[in-house]
Amino acid sequence: MTSALVAVPVVPAPADALGRGLRDLRISVTDRCNFRCPYCMPRSHFGPGYRFVPTPAALTAEEIVRVASIFTSLGVTKVRVTGGEPLLRRELDEIIRGLAGIGVADLALTTNGALLQRRAAALKAAGLQRVTVSLDSLHPEVFAAMSDVNVPVSQVLDGIHAARDAGLSPIKVNCVVRRGVNEDGIIELVDFARREDLVLRFIEYMDVGSSNGWRMDDVVSGAEILGRIGSVHALEELPADPGAVARRYRFVDGGEVGVITSVSRPFCGDCTRARLGVDGRLFTCLFASEGLDLRAPLREGASDHELRTIVARHWHQRDDRYSELRASGSRPLQHVEMSYIGG
Ligand code: SF4
Repeated sequence: MTSALVAVPVVPAPADALGRGLRDLRISVTDRCNFRCPYCMPRSHFGPGYRFVPTPAALTAEEIVRVASIFTSLGVTKVRVTGGEPLLRRELDEIIRGLAGIGVADLALTTNGALLQRRAAALKAAGLQRVTVSLDSLHPEVFAAMSDVNVPVSQVLDGIHAARDAGLSPIKVNCVVRRGVNEDGIIELVDFARREDLVLRFIEYMDVGSSNGWRMDDVVSGAEILGRIGSVHALEELPADPGAVARRYRFVDGGEVGVITSVSRPFCGDCTRARLGVDGRLFTCLFASEGLDLRAPLREGASDHELRTIVARHWHQRDDRYSELRASGSRPLQHVEMSYIGG
């Protein structure tokens, strides 16, 4: 990185149109992935002819850190680096070092874990605090079907162990549950997470992107997931973490598990997240179809004050509540692909 970023006083962005503050930023550092999970990047859509964002169009490491500093100056305290698969981004260590350098209070990364074993220590050294690993099944055949790639699940487990050895903490594991595909592995994952002292979150299968052919029948509700776990391990509900989306439960004999119920119990009313796409478009909802171009003003020489004004004004107008609209049956159909925007 060539220019030093100077800390500026935090002036929180005004609340959005539904009274929600701006607290979290998710940054997609690449729209490419080495998995082809059918719910996110189905091979039929993301095949050899798919046009990913070309390198000159993607924000550079320096641009990403500058945009992040605009958001932290507007009150963002939590930054999550995502993709696609972020470990495919060549300058990832540089990006993490830059984000740590601007004083991000809570700096996390989401990964499929396949490349984590050899990268975890360097990421920790660069300033990464914690990691979330997507892991939909421990069963080799189910894992292969859900990732649609020739990577053994043991490689992801090695990545989790390397993250722990590197001191990344806590390590979270996210599992998307899909009816008839991996629901029978819920208890196996729970027992694995308890043994390994991991924070496990089950996520309801969502209609992310516009290419996964989502149907309500595929969704296993958070209530059903908790019922399955509760029939084996006694659970008590915990208070929600401020700004977090998971409903949390503790096992009475130690450890915790959570469910993210975007479909059955939407949480739009508490959604304080902005998302930065790999080419610098700003999205104010995971299910948005349009993003605000921040790359153009950035490359045309906008000052920090001008960028802050653009972002604050955009946030102030935000009225997204897609999951609530889905629940009421009036959802818009087209939205940006999750591999571009980050989960
Ligand atoms: S649907 Fe959009 S507004 Fe609602 S919680 Fe998800 S990202 Fe936030």
